[in-house]
Amino acid sequence: MGRSYGDVALNSGGTLISTRALDRFVAFDRESGILEAEAGVTLEEVIRIALPHGWFLPTTPGTKHVSLGGAVANDVHGKNHHRAGTFGCWVHGLELARSDGSLQTCAPDVNEELFRATIGGLGMTGLITRVSLQLVKVPGAFLDSEDIAFSDLDEFFELTAQSDAGDWEHTVAWMDCVSARAGRGIFTRANWSRDTARPLRLGGIKPSMPVDAPSFLLNRLSVKAFNELYFRVKAARTRRSRIHFNACFYPLDGIRHWNRLYGRSGFYQYQCVLPRTAQREALRTLLREIAESGQPSFLAVVKGFGDRSSPGLLSFPFPGTHIALDFPNRGVSTQSLFERLDAIVAAAGGRLYPAKDGRMPSDLFRTGFPQWAKLNSLKDPHVQSDFWRRVAG
Ligand SMILES: Cc1cc2nc3c(=O)[nH]c(=O)nc-3n(C[C@H](O)[C@H](O)[C@H](O)COP(=O)(O)OP(=O)(O)OC[C@H]3O[C@@H](n4cnc5c(N)ncnc54)[C@H](O)[C@@H]3O)c2cc1C
Repeated sequence: MGRSYGDVALNSGGTLISTRALDRFVAFDRESGILEAEAGVTLEEVIRIALPHGWFLPTTPGTKHVSLGGAVANDVHGKNHHRAGTFGCWVHGLELARSDGSLQTCAPDVNEELFRATIGGLGMTGLITRVSLQLVKVPGAFLDSEDIAFSDLDEFFELTAQSDAGDWEHTVAWMDCVSARAGRGIFTRANWSRDTARPLRLGGIKPSMPVDAPSFLLNRLSVKAFNELYFRVKAARTRRSRIHFNACFYPLDGIRHWNRLYGRSGFYQYQCVLPRTAQREALRTLLREIAESGQPSFLAVVKGFGDRSSPGLLSFPFPGTHIALDFPNRGVSTQSLFERLDAIVAAAGGRLYPAKDGRMPSDLFRTGFPQWAKLNSLKDPHVQSDFWRRVAG
């Protein structure tokens, strides 16, 4: 579906395989919640089939317009990582087409090495054609959600520890990185609502960003004003609400072409994970560096990753905290900020998320993902991407 932000799904000068025609459901057991489908089926299509029978995705990224194959290849994560781990933790098996013409079945106990290399394997082991996925039971389509304002990083870490250890299945925070009070934000936590009286709604009319925004609209002052407004509205609002899963998990899917907000030069997302031992200091240093850089960044998304490890060799999450920040592309000054952020991430023992990356240097990738050489040895020799050429070249 091309939803990755960087170049993992690009192949300059080569052939790109579209999987949209791999769109068939193979089997769905309503008793066990095991669903098997071709790899081009999207998460939205899975929800349409499964939710009316009380099943939902075990974990989901912030858009439902991604394919099963893409979700496996990036081993995506969601707001319930501290409970559910990554998408790959829920894959019972998959079918892989290799360029030698073979069709291989891979599962935790069949072809294990290739299975582990394909989960989070960025498409390098071959074309995933089918996925068998464990879904989870949910009571309905709504979640009970709570917003809590926090004033600094210490409060954020306290809320994370409290909520993740408590009964909260979905947690995430929005953090202000621009104002003088960088580090303040809104912590949101949610659980599936047991109130099933609400009707199931799946669609609706979406607002749309009709044209690319002119670049002068996105400057430090306008972003600062937006963050201030967002914080005030959220902090003043009733803390508890019952919300539809689309509003909880997929707010950006509600605005068509939202990326045009960044104008014709586009934007980068910088997403890193920092290990628990270094997360507090490293996050503080990152925020300081961003605030001093003068680069405007909308509210950052911050969340704690849990202990559940993925079967994937190159899975991005590990126990710690991750932060995702969007920056309009300002050329050299944006790149030089990223170099300074890279140094902080590397010193803390962190790593960047390939699904969101279009520029990380090869050495940062190799130290962040020491298993890369193992994946390289299992790589399909006739498959390549711009990302892999750049980092593993
Ligand atoms: C608004 C938004 C919010 C997001 N939020 C999150 C989030 O919260 N958490 C998160 O983890 N990610 C998030 N993402 C990233 C997104 O979930 C991933 O990039 C996802 O992998 C995209 O799936 P896709 O089908 O578009 O794959 P593509 O972007 O097209 O491809 C991704 C990779 O998968 C490979 N691939 C795709 N299909 C196959 C196949 N059939 N066989 C082998 N390899 C394949 C490609 O080669 C490529 O390397 C978000 C993206 C957006 C746009």
